[in-house]
Amino acid sequence: MAQLDTRQKLAILADAAKYDASCASSGTAKRNSRDGKGLGSTEGMGICHAYAPDGRCISLLKILLTNSCIFDCHYCINRKSSNVRRARFTAKEVVDLTIAFYKRNYIEGLFLSSGIIGSSNYTMEQMVEVARSLREDHLFRGYIHLKTIPDADPELVHRAGLFADRVSINVELPTASGLKRLAPEKDGARIETAMREVKASIVDGKDARAKYKSAPRFAPAGQSTQMIVGADAATDGDIVTKASTLYDRFGLRRVYYSAFSPIPDASAVLPLQRPPLMREHRLYQSDWLMRFYNYTPAEVVAAADDATGMLPLDIDPKLAWALKFRASFPVDVNRAPREMLLRVPGLGVKAVNAILRTRRWRRLRLDDVARLTVSVAKVRPFLIAEDWRPIALSDAAELRPVVMPKPRQMELFAA
Ligand code: SF4
Repeated sequence: MAQLDTRQKLAILADAAKYDASCASSGTAKRNSRDGKGLGSTEGMGICHAYAPDGRCISLLKILLTNSCIFDCHYCINRKSSNVRRARFTAKEVVDLTIAFYKRNYIEGLFLSSGIIGSSNYTMEQMVEVARSLREDHLFRGYIHLKTIPDADPELVHRAGLFADRVSINVELPTASGLKRLAPEKDGARIETAMREVKASIVDGKDARAKYKSAPRFAPAGQSTQMIVGADAATDGDIVTKASTLYDRFGLRRVYYSAFSPIPDASAVLPLQRPPLMREHRLYQSDWLMRFYNYTPAEVVAAADDATGMLPLDIDPKLAWALKFRASFPVDVNRAPREMLLRVPGLGVKAVNAILRTRRWRRLRLDDVARLTVSVAKVRPFLIAEDWRPIALSDAAELRPVVMPKPRQMELFAA
């Protein structure tokens, strides 16, 4: 490996980290330097944003320890057979960079992932050393998210959780057959065992803290995972079902969906084109429905097309469900229970809470609801108010154009 300076390594390893979706975004114009390439840049040098346990949106330095890897996962730009420029940080270099960026107020934490060098355990040891040194040598109190290395010793993963706020283990693909085909060296059962152990450590850590204030914290921001969308034949139904199983079994905080993006020198087993980004968006919306709107996975899957198992791209899954199950509507805004109000397309959690508060002392009219929603046209066919009752719910084909989001007018100076 040619000698690279820190800046060159940072350029390579921050860029290589952008394929990981496990923190909310990577790249923004915020605090950018003039050409987007300076040390203060948040575009060129891998700053992503994540939500801290207290709800704050924080900036994280998002890098890989190395983009070399002994595995050959077909979808990964860092796989062994990939022809990319390689770089590697030492644990100390990552620590020094994190502290330097933190002191300059560029970041509030670190997101660290890695390819596998030498062995899974050796790589995991290096990752843990970064977190240990930050916490113990530098008394770093910022946020740390460590991605664990497949097949690393459970003891090392446990140590990671003692220093990191969040640990994550990628399931990568929604089906066992997809994993076997595209990441033959990874083992779905071992990945799930590691998640189970992390969950047990999180639960034990919380129990211990409840009894003894001085007990060590273990991954207080929980664990998360990532699934690649569109690299294999899995349908949205498969993905939603898998995500819900993961939430239930392993108490995950988040499942992240990452639309497969074609990589240079791609393996012939991969699709040539990326899936529509909207597909990723619809999966996040369906995830939201399960986590905050009390939809069961089966209900979300029912919103998908029966023949293809795919969620519609032109409307959101909540609207798709409402159109498909029109018999559940209209819902009376002045009488319906919270769980039914949450099913009305166009009404979010905040709007429903406001409705419940208001109707304690007066009955709501359509205008009242209109003030709580972006599109009253979307709400109207599904709702009864004091002064409003939809004439009759026409069939889905007739109703669709009425409730479809209107195309946005292009802004005057948009590119
Ligand atoms: S183990 Fe991780 S870094 Fe290595 S090829 Fe697979 S996905 Fe890429």
